[in-house]
Amino acid sequence: MRLALRVFRCTPGTAGGDGAHRWQAYEVEAGADTTVLDALVAIQREQDPTLAFRWACRVGMCGSCAMVVNGRERWACRMRVHDLGRVTLRVRPLYHFPVLRDLVVDMAPFNARLRAVDGAFRPRAGADSYALVPGGGAERRAIDVAIECIGCGMCLSACTMVAHDPRFPGPAALNRAFTLQRDSREGGAEERWPLLLDEDALTRCHGQGTCTDVCPMGLSPTDSILKLRRAAVRRAVGIPRGRRPREG
Ligand code: SF4
Repeated sequence: MRLALRVFRCTPGTAGGDGAHRWQAYEVEAGADTTVLDALVAIQREQDPTLAFRWACRVGMCGSCAMVVNGRERWACRMRVHDLGRVTLRVRPLYHFPVLRDLVVDMAPFNARLRAVDGAFRPRAGADSYALVPGGGAERRAIDVAIECIGCGMCLSACTMVAHDPRFPGPAALNRAFTLQRDSREGGAEERWPLLLDEDALTRCHGQGTCTDVCPMGLSPTDSILKLRRAAVRRAVGIPRGRRPREG
């Protein structure tokens, strides 16, 4: 079939380029298994070598081809155009990131948000140099469901609070914080709580779940945020993890 695309074009730093963008129309031939990334590569190779976009693994592992297709965050390498129906594809860069060129965004804000919650693992004092979280245990199960973030940025793009509050760490960073707070080997948990309890952090999430809807790894940052909130309440009233508050 003949596939029509309208692709966001923008070259910041050129005359008239700052913030200005246009939508450029293309057509490519598409088969049953053609992905959005295949279509973009065909455009770049056969029609327009100036079109800029990012990709690496092409098999849904690296997350670098994250973009917004027909109004929704998707990884271009796993999105078959056939599954989008017979429509003109509108392809634009992720929201809430500075555009470097066309579909390529600057991921620096993503990393800055991770830093804002102190997102690096710091071994607890006195921990074994090769400490393990035992497989099958409650701690392992709690962390496992949140650990496979590939840093694609789709959740940040989909999050409405990120647009309103630049100090809000956003879903990926809070999801990361959850995995660290839940990890018994982590030495920075107490220092991290003030960052999480800042008025622009945990409480800013409105639980709309748009991050969870788009996460290509099936993670639920929404759930991680709720669990962090519950842990914060338990910590505030002195209930140890694992013990339920008394009812009545
Ligand atoms: S939590 Fe999901 S959507 Fe967000 S950066 Fe990680 S993999 Fe991407």
